Amino acid sequence: MEAKKYFPGGVNSPVRAFKSVGGNPLFFERGKGSHVWDADGNEFIDFCCSWGPLILGHANDAVTEAICTTAAKGASFGAPTREENELASFILQHHKYLEKIRFVSSGTEAAMSAIRLARGYTGRDKVLKFEGCYHGHVDALLVKAGSGLATLGTSSSAGIPQAYVNETIVVPLNDIEAFDAAVEMYRGQIAVVAIEPVPANNGLLIQDGVFLKHLREVCTREGIVLLFDEVISGFRLGFEGASGYYGIQPDVLAFGKIIGGGMPVGAYGASAEIMSQIAPDGPVYQAGTLSGNPVAMAAGLAQLKECAKPGFYEELERKTKKMVDAIQAHADQKNYVFRIFHMGSIFWVSFSKEKSIRRMDEIPENSGQLFAPFHRFLLERGIYLGPSGYEVGFVSAAHTDADIEKAIVDFCDALDHVYNK
Ligand SMILES: *Cc1c(COP(=O)(O)O)cnc(C)c1O
Repeated sequence: MEAKKYFPGGVNSPVRAFKSVGGNPLFFERGKGSHVWDADGNEFIDFCCSWGPLILGHANDAVTEAICTTAAKGASFGAPTREENELASFILQHHKYLEKIRFVSSGTEAAMSAIRLARGYTGRDKVLKFEGCYHGHVDALLVKAGSGLATLGTSSSAGIPQAYVNETIVVPLNDIEAFDAAVEMYRGQIAVVAIEPVPANNGLLIQDGVFLKHLREVCTREGIVLLFDEVISGFRLGFEGASGYYGIQPDVLAFGKIIGGGMPVGAYGASAEIMSQIAPDGPVYQAGTLSGNPVAMAAGLAQLKECAKPGFYEELERKTKKMVDAIQAHADQKNYVFRIFHMGSIFWVSFSKEKSIRRMDEIPENSGQLFAPFHRFLLERGIYLGPSGYEVGFVSAAHTDADIEKAIVDFCDALDHVYNK
């Protein structure tokens, strides 16, 4: 594979490699709506959607038009542009959990900056995160639970100083007792509790609303910043993301993916008071040469305007539910050890009987093994899922009922294939 000469593993982001499913990654040539074509001319219905950003599908007309007309006027100025104001104003008008926002260029940058903001605002150092949540490749957050003491983390990447790891506390998801114990143990030292309110990077680990509300209460009581990393859930579960879905006001929110309409955009936001800590208003430094890039802002605005239309999210949910229910009914009828979870237009296939999986350690270990033949079978049928059993899938507004019906048949056949080999 030629790309292996240029890039580590032949890719520019590790999850694109087909390591866990075998074979070579597909090289994509173009996409339109819910369909993509690879370099060999094979056509697929795409349920990866660039890992979430493409909620309108590929090459949406309004988004493409916004990109082209804006790019023709100049790609970047390193100075304020009207497009930044327009996207910010549109988001703030439609999102009651935000007062001020700062645009950056990726979800990682958003999470990293949000952590710095929380530390600057509270004057504390420690970060509490949850096992199984991903917040981009931020040093302080590439930490997983260690063996032994529940709160003693170990880094999940080489190159992270132990001194950084020591500032990060890791607790299991959906476990009020473990959370309370950690807060008690580090009372007065925790700057921020960071969570994906709908954890969707290690399967779809839907949290109990009671747990999320508990985090809110404890953070308020203890003067800790509650950070909702809504890089996936933001503008996905509804315009107001998981905050709106659960009706919980976090202190700081991080965004990425959908917010840029397929262009590289991230953002973090909070109350005007907390955001006043950010430079040049306040002492917390954060900057970006290409932040608020006008082409990316225009793409984001074009996409979010579609999302804000009445009935947009209901229709996404309807299609997703139709697909998920039919596949689950087939699996149940055949008695397969299988469950397809979904929330809004996010879905996850799990080779498990459990009706609810809320924590990393509840995911069965052989899930990945069964996913590989499942994925391969679907590729041959013209269905593209992200190449890992721990990744979720996405339904976009561009998926038609015909796409959904074809997917139902193919997913059911793929299950028969996996279980009757
Ligand atoms: C994708 C993701 C990130 C990282 O965003 P990038 O744009 O890939 O840097 C951070 N947090 C969550 C919850 C994500 O899903």
